[in-house]
Amino acid sequence: MAKKTDRQTPLKPATRLVTGGRDSQAYHGFVNPPVFHASTVLYPTAEDQVAHRSRYQYGRRGTPTSEALENALAELEGPGCAGVALLPSGLAAISTALLSVVSAGDHILVSDSAYRPTRTFCDSVLKRLGVETTYFDPLLNAKIAGLFKPNTRAVFVEAPGSQSFEMQDIPAIAQVAHEKGAIVLMDNTWATPLYFNAFDKGVDLSIQAGTKYIGGHSDIMFGTVSANAATLPALKTTFGNMGLCAGPDDIYLALRGLRTLGVRLARHQDSALQIARWFEKRPEVLRVLHPALESDPGHAIWKRDFSGASGLFSIVLKPAPERAVYAFMNTLSLFGMGFSWGGFESLVILFDCAEYRSATKWAPGGPTLRFHIGLEDVGDLTADLEAGFAALNASA
Ligand SMILES: *Cc1c(COP(=O)(O)O)cnc(C)c1O
Repeated sequence: MAKKTDRQTPLKPATRLVTGGRDSQAYHGFVNPPVFHASTVLYPTAEDQVAHRSRYQYGRRGTPTSEALENALAELEGPGCAGVALLPSGLAAISTALLSVVSAGDHILVSDSAYRPTRTFCDSVLKRLGVETTYFDPLLNAKIAGLFKPNTRAVFVEAPGSQSFEMQDIPAIAQVAHEKGAIVLMDNTWATPLYFNAFDKGVDLSIQAGTKYIGGHSDIMFGTVSANAATLPALKTTFGNMGLCAGPDDIYLALRGLRTLGVRLARHQDSALQIARWFEKRPEVLRVLHPALESDPGHAIWKRDFSGASGLFSIVLKPAPERAVYAFMNTLSLFGMGFSWGGFESLVILFDCAEYRSATKWAPGGPTLRFHIGLEDVGDLTADLEAGFAALNASA
């Protein structure tokens, strides 16, 4: 854990991605920090050991490598961020953030569109510890006020929603939550701190699955929690007590990924929008679920609060037999079929939110596919999708 460094002139986010957390003179002038593989820290004298007098105490408690990334992320998040915790996965970031705010007897509100394992954590671990969860319709926004109980401690939001891309009015939700004395946690993996400034919008704890765009190369599991001044002490305590720490090589790869996040996201955004618009014109497609499209019901909120969109969105196909959807997917050669996203490569999965949503009814009107648009050439991707649709139509 480290506090962000103070900076007088506010640099633009693209610049902060490059400059954040850099201290080359501390590493003999080299641009990047070394990867410290470390457990024990040796003290020069008995006096120093007894007094714990050392810049670093123990591998689990931080190294120059972890500090460099914490500082870079804190600078990216902006002045509302007081500190960052680095975790071994996105789900560990979610569970640690939640555990840092709840106690037995508390009640929490969680968006029905949250990442499914977030729900599983609430329904298993938190339930067992005596914390009650109520799921809410992500479109309720300020109307969630009616769901608060005297013991409601936190509201967990995610925008856009996992798989289904509903937009939430985060400032409106945060205002209600804060009036009721509750903490706002957000899974901000889709937009990243670059395209959604969580702390400016009223979020208290902002979570990233660093596995996705921060890593950016499908080669690490990683998570981060950024906290404001009010929530940082409890986050630090929980993080420390749980014995959590991320591996040095993964931290390094996350820091390396962060440096190119700006250019990668710009390309993901641009290609995904082009392909989303292409899907809108396809006769096989009922609807495209992408908040940056003018046709999307969440577009106005996205436009007001977000400064960009990433490469992940879904489509609803017109009703088609399962074999036709499978034929579509099996024909694609540039879209891997796999979970996760945020790497350089394009992906597709077939999904069904009806299996687990509880506060809302998921009835999109046809089979649903989620796409991650990678860094390939857009023409190559649409040609691949065109072949997929030909196979779909041939087996319909
Ligand atoms: C993948 C993902 C996570 C979990 O991250 P892991 O690193 O896989 O644990 C959390 N939230 C969202 C929105 C995700 O897509």
